Amino acid sequence: MKTIVFLFILFTINLNPQAMAQEDIRPKKLKEQHFTPKVTKPADEWKAKLTPLQYEVTRNKGTERPFTGQYFDFYEKGNYYCANCGALLFNSESKFKSGCGWPSFNDVINLQSINIVTDKTSGMIRTEITCSNCEAHLGHVFEDGPPPTGLRYCINSVSLKFIPISEQIGKH
Ligand code: FE
Repeated sequence: MKTIVFLFILFTINLNPQAMAQEDIRPKKLKEQHFTPKVTKPADEWKAKLTPLQYEVTRNKGTERPFTGQYFDFYEKGNYYCANCGALLFNSESKFKSGCGWPSFNDVINLQSINIVTDKTSGMIRTEITCSNCEAHLGHVFEDGPPPTGLRYCINSVSLKFIPISEQIGKH
């Protein structure tokens, strides 16, 4: 009887440490994609161009502290561009209040503007997105966003530059 109980416990508990450590929370509908970047610079040039926090987040895949960024609670109408290379990424139509502490969008303007990459750091398997034009780290995508996509692109404010609709004339 003891043996049966022991075997039952063995089957019940998942003893695979890899599976226990790394939960796969990648959105099923997003397929991996990577484009050759058009903008490349050596590290010292990015450092000279960016603030220390921007450099840490965008070039070293860092994360700004939640509820501290410029755009987490910001809902003006306009477009969001890559803070490193100026590529168009998001607009205010897809921005929503997620309460997570980072700017949240349920869609990108153009899927070709991002790389979709598997990220196995931090003890889980997540979907990271980077700018396809310059490979700046932007954030991660999760499956708990509102319709129609059901996605939440959770993006660092320092990875973005907002330009209001009133200043769009002549840009793109
Ligand atoms: Fe970029």
